[in-house]
Amino acid sequence: MCGIFAVAGRPDAAELTQLGLFALQHRGQESAGIVTAGKEAELHAHIGMGLVSEVFAMGEAAALEGRVAIGHVRYATTGASQLKNAQPLVFKTGHGPLAIAHNGNLTNALQVKKKLEARGAIFQSSTDSEVIVHLLARQEGPVEDALIASLRQVSGAYSLLLLTPDKLIAARDPYGFRPLILGRLGATHVFASETSGLNLVGAETVRELEPGEMVIVEGSKLRSLKPFEPVSQQARCVFEQVYFARPDSVIFGRGVQAARRDLGRALAREMRGVKADIVVPVPDSGVSAALGFSEESGIPFEMGLVRSHYVSRTFIKPTQELREKAAMLKLAPVPEALRGKRVLLVDDSIVRGTTSKRICRNLREAGAREIHMGVTSPPIVSPCYYGIDTPRGSELIANVKSPEEIRKFLGVDSLQHLSLAGMLRAVGKGDESGWCTACFTRRYPTPIPDYQVAEAVK
Ligand code: AMP
Repeated sequence: MCGIFAVAGRPDAAELTQLGLFALQHRGQESAGIVTAGKEAELHAHIGMGLVSEVFAMGEAAALEGRVAIGHVRYATTGASQLKNAQPLVFKTGHGPLAIAHNGNLTNALQVKKKLEARGAIFQSSTDSEVIVHLLARQEGPVEDALIASLRQVSGAYSLLLLTPDKLIAARDPYGFRPLILGRLGATHVFASETSGLNLVGAETVRELEPGEMVIVEGSKLRSLKPFEPVSQQARCVFEQVYFARPDSVIFGRGVQAARRDLGRALAREMRGVKADIVVPVPDSGVSAALGFSEESGIPFEMGLVRSHYVSRTFIKPTQELREKAAMLKLAPVPEALRGKRVLLVDDSIVRGTTSKRICRNLREAGAREIHMGVTSPPIVSPCYYGIDTPRGSELIANVKSPEEIRKFLGVDSLQHLSLAGMLRAVGKGDESGWCTACFTRRYPTPIPDYQVAEAVK
């Protein structure tokens, strides 16, 4: 997954973008980058591997001249975790220099890439995002028309930003998989994956870009186009609300914290019969849901696990070995709170099951008498091809084990997932259609040609 941010029309655009990226850091921790457009017909870039605080440790953002900036934080979903894949990607094309920052995953990029390579294209990175630029570079006319023609040839998920020396373009795919928000700071236009980024720079939220919308900023002027065929059903990623976005953000028209609280409440209603003394969240992602669970059930909320903030998100590390090591450093049980207690453990999701297993073992060692696990989403049975870094099907525990096998594997006394209908009701609040639930239902809203090809090859 990735986070994107842009500022159009201030001399400190790069520094504000750096701030915005800080508030989007949870969306990607492998690389960070900012590209600016200044007076001369050139782009300036600083891109590196690591956290925003590492890549921009020496005041590099302040040194990037220009009144317009785009920024990106990344973790790899397609393409390895390497500097050549770090974004924004910068190119020299017939349209002049341009930079692109992309959140989401294309589902036909491999196929398009093969065709382009057969005609002589030379790719610099192994990201799907570069395909958009190659397609664009082959089109004539204004860059926005070239981008439209390019995006019409790709399928899947994109919320993206394109920067040229005189234009900033923001676009969201017709399904609206990933969020993209337009904000305003005085006369300055700001774009962010989540409102957490807007809040940090003091920008007010204007509105979410509509699915299929393209916004072009030139000087202080902003134009909006709807150049794509509308789709019959939108497909906002429900996992953004369940897990991915930051609780202080408002995305898809709904506050994330409130949505997660409602998910916890819904789970408490579905788990009414379970007896427990304390509700314990898996921090940080389970906290809002556990509050809702506690409110609804009347069972006291207890921070039975504390999180070390000095270890970065475990899951996000690309190899299993690194993940295992980091997970042990991250969460510590609080024995005084747990000893002799029947614990209702609340988490947002189970992917491989390895984190939950380790947590439950630690809870028992700290004295928990019973552990009942409640999960505020249905079992994840199928990979995401739209940008969430879920592993292949064979590593998804709910895809390969029965509920009873999973309960035993985790070492819990009982395990219950929120139902699909319960999740959509809680997140949607009267707007229960138009979500992508493919990881829970195997119902993919678009064709996924690249992955069908890849699976056939295996
Ligand atoms: P596990 O079941 O051990 O694979 O880990 C599940 C935990 O990882 C849950 O507590 C989630 O909060 C978190 N998680 C779920 N999906 C992701 C993801 N795509 N990236 C990072 N963390 C995730």
